[in-house]
Amino acid sequence: MINVTKTYLPDKKKYQSYVDSIFESGWITNNGSLVNQLEKELCAYLNVEHLLLVSNGTLALQIAFKALGLNGEVVTTPFSFVATTGSLVWEHLTPVFADINPDTYNIDVQKVKRMITKKTSAVLPVHVFGNACEVEELELICKEHDLKLIFDAAHAFDVKNDLRNVLNYGDASTLSFHATKIFHTIEGGAIVFKRKEDYDKARLLINFGISGYDQVDTVGINCKMNEFQAAMGLAVLSEMSEIIERRSKVWIRYFDQFKSFRDIQLQKMNSDFSNNHAYFPVVFKDEETTLRIKKILNEQQIFPRRYFYPSLNKLNYLNEYQPCPVSEDIVTRILCLPMYGDLEASVQDQIIEIVCNNLK
Ligand SMILES: *Cc1c(COP(=O)(O)O)cnc(C)c1O
Repeated sequence: MINVTKTYLPDKKKYQSYVDSIFESGWITNNGSLVNQLEKELCAYLNVEHLLLVSNGTLALQIAFKALGLNGEVVTTPFSFVATTGSLVWEHLTPVFADINPDTYNIDVQKVKRMITKKTSAVLPVHVFGNACEVEELELICKEHDLKLIFDAAHAFDVKNDLRNVLNYGDASTLSFHATKIFHTIEGGAIVFKRKEDYDKARLLINFGISGYDQVDTVGINCKMNEFQAAMGLAVLSEMSEIIERRSKVWIRYFDQFKSFRDIQLQKMNSDFSNNHAYFPVVFKDEETTLRIKKILNEQQIFPRRYFYPSLNKLNYLNEYQPCPVSEDIVTRILCLPMYGDLEASVQDQIIEIVCNNLK
């Protein structure tokens, strides 16, 4: 069975040596030494400061909203994983959807401007499939309207321009280290803050608001990463450059085959930033073609995913329907093809052949 992604398992001995150190110390959670080591190594690898590890990428979003004091309305994208909207609603914030650009699949900056009201406190874009948003334009808009800017960077591990990592834009960026993401800690996530004071505040929030012995400063919750998660992270991180190298070969093989087909639309990537080759989305000319190709692949035990479906503005728990025609159209025509480092070339060629032979 070939799925859209495959969890990367690092060298078992390497993982075990970290686990051995946990058994020796007897310290398995609560800001342990492996969590601290992983925080340091990630800061160095990603070239960021103020990175806080948390238990998953959804709570990373929720903690970022709290630490930055969001309220009222948040302008966000309808084209993302459900956690982007779900985390807002869970925190009693109102998602206001700005439709996406039909080529990049990222939030349309001009539409963001139009959705800002007196109640808006923040903008929450997503670097969809690792494709960096128009970060500078978004920073300008948020500065002009005195709004917080948080990027859901769950797909954007190791995406950078000539100067800096994409995580350094905005007031905060959140990462997911779920097993299906390119870098993972089984379950896990992180928040990268621009300002040290926001990082300090979030550090309290993830540990019940406890600031010291017998001292509670604020209402908090529990979303600490544990030592076993950090052990997996350290083992995977030590192999990261090979992981990305292998993924890029698979990505390029798809790209070279599909680029000349007029009936296959490929994501337009932001050329100022690097590509982490996290996903390979293809958009077909209509839903019928999309579902037909999906069915034929499924018959061969190959399971691409309709990422993302449904368009988030159509979630049944939202109060009112806010139309987003571009996103609603793309979700009916998109498939993410199997994309991971050790996808066999022969299987990949089979996928390419099925796609190309069934466009009409
Ligand atoms: C995976 C993902 C999340 C949620 O992360 P978890 O670690 O699974 O909680 C949030 N946003 C996006 C865009 C994601 O892809």
